[in-house]
Amino acid sequence: MANFKIVKPADAHVLTLEVVGSKRVSPHVVRVTLGGEGMDHFTPMGYDQWFRLFLTRPDQDALSLPTRSSGLWYVQYLATPRARRPFVRSYTVRAVRPDLREMDVDFVVHGDEGPASRFALTAEPGERVGLLDQGVGYNPRVAHDWTLVVADETGLPAVAGICESLPDDARGLAIVEVPDLADVQDFRVPAGVELRWIARADGAPTAEVLADVPSADVPAADVPGADGGHALPGRLALDAVLAAELPSAPVYAYAVGESSLVTGVRRHLVNDRGVPKTHVDFVGYWRHGHAASS
Ligand SMILES: Cc1cc2nc3c(=O)[nH]c(=O)nc-3n(C[C@H](O)[C@H](O)[C@H](O)COP(=O)(O)OP(=O)(O)OC[C@H]3O[C@@H](n4cnc5c(N)ncnc54)[C@H](O)[C@@H]3O)c2cc1C
Repeated sequence: MANFKIVKPADAHVLTLEVVGSKRVSPHVVRVTLGGEGMDHFTPMGYDQWFRLFLTRPDQDALSLPTRSSGLWYVQYLATPRARRPFVRSYTVRAVRPDLREMDVDFVVHGDEGPASRFALTAEPGERVGLLDQGVGYNPRVAHDWTLVVADETGLPAVAGICESLPDDARGLAIVEVPDLADVQDFRVPAGVELRWIARADGAPTAEVLADVPSADVPAADVPGADGGHALPGRLALDAVLAAELPSAPVYAYAVGESSLVTGVRRHLVNDRGVPKTHVDFVGYWRHGHAASS
């Protein structure tokens, strides 16, 4: 479920990349670095550029990828016999180093039930994956003076990419809910944008605004529950939006993450705050209790 208009990549390709390495950057996030010659055909667009990630199933010894890079890839995918279809999930570019032919992808790890989470936890150098660039979701199409960005931990890479890409004079508020304070990351934020972190560790309904960012070098640990406690992911971020002061100037809002969060943000802004529907975009990244479909 989504209400947004993607800025499509000018020249998308179905790429094969290899795992270069992986590291646990915080208790709930594993950063997988992908690379190889396929990166020569990847064009970084900044913001929350995202892609389809194709992963082999446990009983497959080869990765069977679509050849079409337009929307027809999915028709091709469905036409592929089930036994040869890879898993498909959606992820966001966290960083790109074209000179090294590398990109980083931050996976929220939530145990080994989901194929993408399992992949991140077990990724070995040399392992092959497929990637199809989908472009940028953050795409305001209305005049606005102020931006509100809201996300749970799956949208942290999107918020980081958006904040790093916004112009220096951008003004607004970015709210990111993470399972644990140690999942906070450091990235460039325009001076006029407030970045507000909310941690739900132990399910305590407390919001904490951080001044200091902890070191990213967190020792590998057992996989904690991805909810970092008992609260439903996204609930505290929604509460923070309900309590936030918005300016009277025209606002553009963009919410990504668990589906109840993003639909709740939109409903509140439109119904309770009178923000025009055209000023609110949202993308449901995942649904609590439901696996992605492919
Ligand atoms: C455009 C887009 C960009 C995205 N970018 C990122 C990104 O950069 N990093 C990222 O981590 N995710 C990102 N996501 C979300 C990610 O695609 C989903 O979380 C996906 O469902 C994970 O796949 P999986 O195979 O691990 O689990 P699935 O097989 O899809 O699900 C298995 C079970 O795990 C649950 N589950 C799925 N995700 C989570 C989670 N995060 N926490 C707790 N339980 C979960 C499901 O509800 C289900 O019960 C993005 C989604 C979209 C649409």
